Amino acid sequence: LGLACAACLGRRGGLRAYSALTSNLAPFTNPSEKERNSAVTLVRGEGVHVWDDQGNKYLDGLAGLWSNALGNGNERVIGAAHAQLKKLAYQHTFWNRTTDIAEEYTRRLVDFASHRGVVQTFMSCGGSDANDTNVKLAWYYWNAVGQPSRKTVIARHGAYHGVTITASSMSGLDSIHKGYGPLPLPWVRHVSTPHYWRNGLPGETEEEYSSRLAKELEDLILREGPETIAAFIAEPVMGAGGVIPPPKGYFQKIQPILQKYDILFILDEVITAFGRLGERFGSDFFDIQPDLYTVAKAMSSSYYPLGAALITERVADAIKDQANKFGVFGHGYTYGGHPVACAIGLECLNIYEETSIWDHVKLMTPTFQLTLKQLETHPLVGEVRGEGFMLAIEFVSDKATKAPLGTSVPPATILANECMKNGLLVRSTGNVVVLAPSLVFTMENFQELFSKLKASFDSFDQIVYKELPD
Ligand code: PMP
Repeated sequence: LGLACAACLGRRGGLRAYSALTSNLAPFTNPSEKERNSAVTLVRGEGVHVWDDQGNKYLDGLAGLWSNALGNGNERVIGAAHAQLKKLAYQHTFWNRTTDIAEEYTRRLVDFASHRGVVQTFMSCGGSDANDTNVKLAWYYWNAVGQPSRKTVIARHGAYHGVTITASSMSGLDSIHKGYGPLPLPWVRHVSTPHYWRNGLPGETEEEYSSRLAKELEDLILREGPETIAAFIAEPVMGAGGVIPPPKGYFQKIQPILQKYDILFILDEVITAFGRLGERFGSDFFDIQPDLYTVAKAMSSSYYPLGAALITERVADAIKDQANKFGVFGHGYTYGGHPVACAIGLECLNIYEETSIWDHVKLMTPTFQLTLKQLETHPLVGEVRGEGFMLAIEFVSDKATKAPLGTSVPPATILANECMKNGLLVRSTGNVVVLAPSLVFTMENFQELFSKLKASFDSFDQIVYKELPD
């Protein structure tokens, strides 16, 4: 019977051979390309370096995916995970059950975020599902307070909030929506990417630009009807959209509009929480006062999948009342509050607090940002921008028009490939190269990064100038 089925599947193409590299449908990757150009297979990590299966060593300039804050091999984190696995590998926090470690960790998280008005957490496995949770919390809140027409969420073009159906819808990147019929879902609206260098008008100051964006937001709210808007969601610094820090005064002008129309503010701190900008939270850095926070990534230094919605008093109180009405708060993930994740998260938080990791980031930020800012003298670099340990290098063909550099392979991919040959991992988003080192990067690590980047720019020039017209 098995053979008959196989033959029949084969006729329909069901048994087409998939190479070892495509047996896993790789995220944000062209599967045909991955098949043609074999991917680098990483097998080992020590601190901020990783090794591939050929023995090549790389400096990780992206901390995994902006997330491996402590680098690999941290014995304290490994020890905490090991001890928890031996003590209690799994129990959940549903119904009338909880675990000591989930209680201890979530209490510590609330303490850690209490200066931001946080009174409660809801545990998830990463950023996307924490963002989904925050949207559900916003809807639950509005239903609880008797305004059930508030369903629309306003996000921004260029935003990245993850890839579950809700998070994909709020993300403002074409690559996430293309090919998925109903995405983005109809209850999402997008306003402009706040990118002054690219979108500011001639003669317009940064503050004026921010005012224009605040007006755009207000116009949209009025057009839609304030009574239909549940929440606004934003990253403090846009990440995957190309590291875009807000223009001067942006959040200070946006927030009064949200307050005027009583709209909840969800701040997606998946990249920025736990020190990446040189403060505990991105909201500390920019003085933002949201109602709900989304955190993940550095929360566990990526030693384990972990994320959370952080909830302020206004929302927490209404949720409690509403859940009481229904007899249950109908939401929860099997792995939310996983004991091993919590043990790892707790140890990371201990390390961050004991070392004031954000102060280290603040101290090293000028070295990182100002050294690489000098790349703006390169004829094909339009802008080097960033905050803390987040930085982007954007290529242009013409500095005046800021037209993208149209090489046959996208320029940032050429540079990222050369970086890899030189033992440096960075990320390309087409015209933009992104760097986001671990929070423990030392001066020596930065020197290594600069020299590998310089060597990669030298070979980039050779490749690109061969292609460009004189
Ligand atoms: N929000 C932001 C700002 C992110 O950068 C990411 C991931 N890069 C997410 C949400 C989604 O997180 P995850 O991949 O853990 O679902």
